[in-house]
Amino acid sequence: MKKSISILLSAAMVGTLALSGCGGEQAPAAVKDPVAGVEAKASTDKYRNYYQIFTQSYADSNGDNIGDFQGIISQLDYLNDGDPNGGEDLGIDALWLTPINPSDSYHKYNVEDYYNVDKDFGTLEDFDKLLEEAHKRGINIILDLVLNHISYKNPLFIEACKEVEAGKLDGKARLFEFHKPDYYSSDTPVITVGDYVCEANFSPTMPEWNLNSEETRQEFTNIAKFWLDRGVDGFRLDAVKYFGNKETDGVEFLKWFVDTCRKIKPDVYLVGEDWSDDSEIKDFYGSGIDSLFAFRFAQSSGDIMQFMSTNQGAQLVKKLASYDSKMSGANPDYINAMFLSNHDQVRIANALESKGVAAEKFAANVYMLTPGNSFTYYGEEIGMTAPGTDSDKYYRLPMVFDSDNLPTITVDGASTVSAPTGGGVKQQLKDEDSLLNHYRRLITVKLQNPEIQRGRITSQQDFGDAQVSGYYIEKDGAKLLVIHNFSPEEEKTVEITDDMMKNAAVRADFLPSVKDKHLEIKDGKITLPAYSSVILKSAD
Ligand code: CA
Ligand code: CA
Ligand code: CA
Repeated sequence: MKKSISILLSAAMVGTLALSGCGGEQAPAAVKDPVAGVEAKASTDKYRNYYQIFTQSYADSNGDNIGDFQGIISQLDYLNDGDPNGGEDLGIDALWLTPINPSDSYHKYNVEDYYNVDKDFGTLEDFDKLLEEAHKRGINIILDLVLNHISYKNPLFIEACKEVEAGKLDGKARLFEFHKPDYYSSDTPVITVGDYVCEANFSPTMPEWNLNSEETRQEFTNIAKFWLDRGVDGFRLDAVKYFGNKETDGVEFLKWFVDTCRKIKPDVYLVGEDWSDDSEIKDFYGSGIDSLFAFRFAQSSGDIMQFMSTNQGAQLVKKLASYDSKMSGANPDYINAMFLSNHDQVRIANALESKGVAAEKFAANVYMLTPGNSFTYYGEEIGMTAPGTDSDKYYRLPMVFDSDNLPTITVDGASTVSAPTGGGVKQQLKDEDSLLNHYRRLITVKLQNPEIQRGRITSQQDFGDAQVSGYYIEKDGAKLLVIHNFSPEEEKTVEITDDMMKNAAVRADFLPSVKDKHLEIKDGKITLPAYSSVILKSAD
């Protein structure tokens, strides 16, 4: 029933647009797109719309079926052409590259040399060129830095092993977690070297650094300086969850590393990976780190997907607001890091695609319009799905720029990638109703309204309907009211009173289809279609 009504409405709207275009008399005037003509300003601070690139999988420039730096350079104009008010680019203004250091794995989280790049991806000169070309367009780059573990093939670890086998523990061995076997509980994964063992939580090929030693910290200072001096804008810190152990206070170590990086580069941006509960995340925010990924809201099992399946939007916003106040209590300058999925998780389109592209667009509204930085996993903006769920490689398949010309990059032996339902980048750029164009609009609006990223959720608005969520974002006297309609089927009409916002006007709307009529407040009321969002602001 609802469906046929919305189809009729859409058809009527197309007629309205066509008529108003040629001066039709009977059609009511179309509501102007509130976003049109508003100036977008490029970010010059740490608040960014990040895009995660799995380096192996993005773009291959030389036909060896391995993604590389030159490949990424060739796609920079797609990512951001340098003009926030025009072009056919996605508009992201920061990149997180998964590890680029020499390593024998395709993912390269086992680092053999922290001071170089893997030849599969190019040379250091190629990397410098990528950095230069990205910066030219206003794109920052942060590198994935693996400080918890190392490759067992790294010369430092090989030397340490030789010393340990000879019974010498006060040299290179101090860099790593070498202890007598009875030091660890029986369920701690370890590597055995002579009479000693080294902690290795991730793999027998990934022994762990001893984060508590002066020697390690000197090495890490050198590594941070090497990349920051090169012009890198910051780091994504891998496996922060494993920084602490019996002798190492993980928060103390993280604080030391944050302070060290800031001494080298005062405006460095650091974001850490820890998928634990709120209390551990809060502890780590006490280190002063800029960001930690908000895992609880992400993934197919996280809060955004949970509350989208029950349609309980007001509940989700309650959790977002409480998270915001908790974490800002630990670090007043904290920048939330929201995302839907990353390289370790099933692609979010697997869970959303059956609900339709409107659901994919709406999930994007929810995480992208939360204060802080958003992290979009490459391919998410075109609705790429994972063809399997039993191996990480399926979450890391090559980016589809053109669905008529599928990429041939192989990922851990997997070479089959299928075109997303809406096509590749090339196809979706031409389709004004595509998921990609929806993402482009979201980023544009965030650049038009800097307080979305830089503000805090100061309170929630109860509209007396659990499926409708409302929250206020405030920053330096600017105030926005963001409203989401979590219903997949019903439009919702809500009242906007002077108490909520004086002289409220629509600042931006995010509709399931561009064929939907733009939103307006009429007689103190606004009607949101199913799966739509709106941002209100007092008209000056
Ligand atoms: Ca290549
Ligand atoms: Ca642009
Ligand atoms: Ca560790």
